[in-house]
Amino acid sequence: MESPAVTFTLAYVVFAVCFVFPPDEVRSAGLTVQSLLAGWLGSEDAAFVQYHLRRSTGTLLAHSLLPLGYYLGMCFAAPEKHLCFFYLASEGWKTFFFFAVLLPAVTSALAYYWSRKGWNNHPLARTLAVHALPQSGWRAVASSINMEFRRIDKFATGAPGARVIVTDTWVIKVTTYCLHVAQQQDIHLTVTDSRQHELSPDSNMPVQFLTIRVASINPYVKAFDIRLNSTEYGELREKLRAPISNAANVVIHQSLSDLFLETFTSLVEINQAYSLPSNQELEPCIGCMQTNANIKLIKNCQEPNEGECQQCYCRPMWCLTCMGKWFASRQDQQHPETWLSSQVPCPTCRAKFCILDVCMIR
Ligand SMILES: [Zn+2]
Ligand SMILES: [Zn+2]
Ligand SMILES: [Zn+2]
Repeated sequence: MESPAVTFTLAYVVFAVCFVFPPDEVRSAGLTVQSLLAGWLGSEDAAFVQYHLRRSTGTLLAHSLLPLGYYLGMCFAAPEKHLCFFYLASEGWKTFFFFAVLLPAVTSALAYYWSRKGWNNHPLARTLAVHALPQSGWRAVASSINMEFRRIDKFATGAPGARVIVTDTWVIKVTTYCLHVAQQQDIHLTVTDSRQHELSPDSNMPVQFLTIRVASINPYVKAFDIRLNSTEYGELREKLRAPISNAANVVIHQSLSDLFLETFTSLVEINQAYSLPSNQELEPCIGCMQTNANIKLIKNCQEPNEGECQQCYCRPMWCLTCMGKWFASRQDQQHPETWLSSQVPCPTCRAKFCILDVCMIR
């Protein structure tokens, strides 16, 4: 091959790879199917399932046009092959052209078939129909997923090509062409593998990636793997109702604050409890608004006028998790060994307290 043709071929291969597996740079430049078709796709937050019905179909169509794009480019990069005049081209190029045209034709027909009857024939509709109750269809499942996806308390992580979303009812994995959906109550999860990456661009700590197999007792739901950073493991476990078993005995490097939160919780639980006066009612925690406040700070560590701790007179406003996170956030990140013995100010009145002064409300 002559040099313009070689140059074009190499450039096109790079372009095609970047288009199918977009790196972050390409993504931020907006050269992905999602951003090119943004107007047609609509908003993921408004209608998650409908967005992904369109996105997976659009992605398939766009990717199937790549061979034809190469052929058209070669018409100009290698004029001596006479590719513009189809009948003068060599047998090999004729065959290539035939497949390059056939591929988008097939995917267009498929896309048309999928989109009929309000996307009833799309594979994703069938994936969702598996979870539908006897009297309802996939649309009921879709609206449940759409509604839960809009909530801010969902767990979401992963690269755009392998995102993981956990809502109150659903565990969803989004890949380039399809969506895996499992219902929380049906699944069991197993840590199957862990991989350590020494270098991470945004931290100097080694990064551990966990592979977790999600298997469902529903025979129509195929098992799938999700991957996540081990520091997100605690957050995932909080969102899941099913326990995660660790078949491979993987040592999970949780984030320092997750580990601390576990210790904090177990220490507070052995502290003296506080019983709420009967005329007071518990309000939602002002940190997370998810659970009721269940913590009261009472100076128990020393006599009232001794030591650094002070009495806090605030009414209960925080839950145990949020108080633990607050406690951890006020610590010296370089010296975790000092965390348990230190004092931090009450988030509301600034009176100093230590772990011994944190009381659960019973
Ligand atoms: Zn809270
Ligand atoms: Zn206070
Ligand atoms: Zn104290």
